[in-house]
Amino acid sequence: MAQTARTVVIHEFGGPEVLRLEDRPVGEPGPGQVRIRHKACGLNFIDIYQRSGLYPNELPLTMGMEAAGEIEAVGEGVDHLKPGDRAAYAAMPPGAYAEARVMPAAQVCPLPDEIGFDTAAAMMLKGLTVQYLFHRTTPLQRGDSVLFHAAAGGVGLIACQWARSEGITLIGTAGSDEKCKLALDHGAAHCINYRTQDFAGEVRRLTGGKGVDAVMDSVGADTFEGSLDCLKPLGMMISFGNASGPVPPFSLAVLAQKGSLRITRPTLFTHIADHAVCMEMAARLFDKVRSGDVKIRIDQRFALDRVADAHRALEARKTTGSTILEP
Ligand code: NDP
Repeated sequence: MAQTARTVVIHEFGGPEVLRLEDRPVGEPGPGQVRIRHKACGLNFIDIYQRSGLYPNELPLTMGMEAAGEIEAVGEGVDHLKPGDRAAYAAMPPGAYAEARVMPAAQVCPLPDEIGFDTAAAMMLKGLTVQYLFHRTTPLQRGDSVLFHAAAGGVGLIACQWARSEGITLIGTAGSDEKCKLALDHGAAHCINYRTQDFAGEVRRLTGGKGVDAVMDSVGADTFEGSLDCLKPLGMMISFGNASGPVPPFSLAVLAQKGSLRITRPTLFTHIADHAVCMEMAARLFDKVRSGDVKIRIDQRFALDRVADAHRALEARKTTGSTILEP
């Protein structure tokens, strides 16, 4: 039976105005694929990089990397899902801003009954990111300290709670005093308003001059240099995003001068590329949410046809926590 689904597509890179809602055909799943009918879709900053063309993709491009819904059909060789199952994912290729889609099954995870569709759509990409940052990037132990930028955002509020639940001291930064309060309420030990304070100086002061074990920096251009000054000798710089623009080229020698620092530029999609690892990471994330250690805050909701407004709000730093689109 031929069917169509309202789907957000771009035909050119640019501002929020290039986002278009179109009826697109949705066929039957091929081998290794599923057809999923979305109940909620997640909004992520990576969607902005894809829309603007900062992260290259071919056009036309369907948008969105995270959603939750019900499996309608499965293709040959898919044995971890069946029609009628509740499911959620963070996955490539983009195409999650849609009523329904056909997609590879490997990263689509069966969703426990206790976790609602909205919550799942608000946490898969962001929560799996926090998990790989804390557990798969550098060894972090109870008692270690981390500087986490944009701590009141979608990834940020999950990170604050995750750190608290693991006994890791998280120093957050955020762009207003209200956002700092939110980060503190969610488990940050300290939060620095980096629009009014010199965050590197504050981190030095808060750590008695020692610095932190790791920095998790998704702000990029505006914070990169200051972040390096917050690290202990042998500390780990994790540059995982560019909300303020890409990090400019820099000399590796700087890492030696600042104390034999380590640096990595990871992406979630390397970590979840393997099906078994992805399922294991999702199970751990679901446990964190079911235990109450991590609560997912949905602070903004937009109908799918208001996707451009959702992008504008995220880019203008007007959002906190997670944002979902309602198909
Ligand atoms: P957020 O909800 O955190 O929104 C981004 C936040 O960045 C803003 O709210 C703002 O917070 C801060 N920010 C600082 N400077 C700017 C600027 N110039 N323009 C806009 N925002 C700015 O988004 P997400 O939770 O979706 O993602 C957080 C970051 O993590 C993004 O950079 C994203 O790309 C990255 N990411 C990377 C992944 C990876 O695997 N590499 C996976 C998932 C996310 P404030 O006002 O407090 O400064």
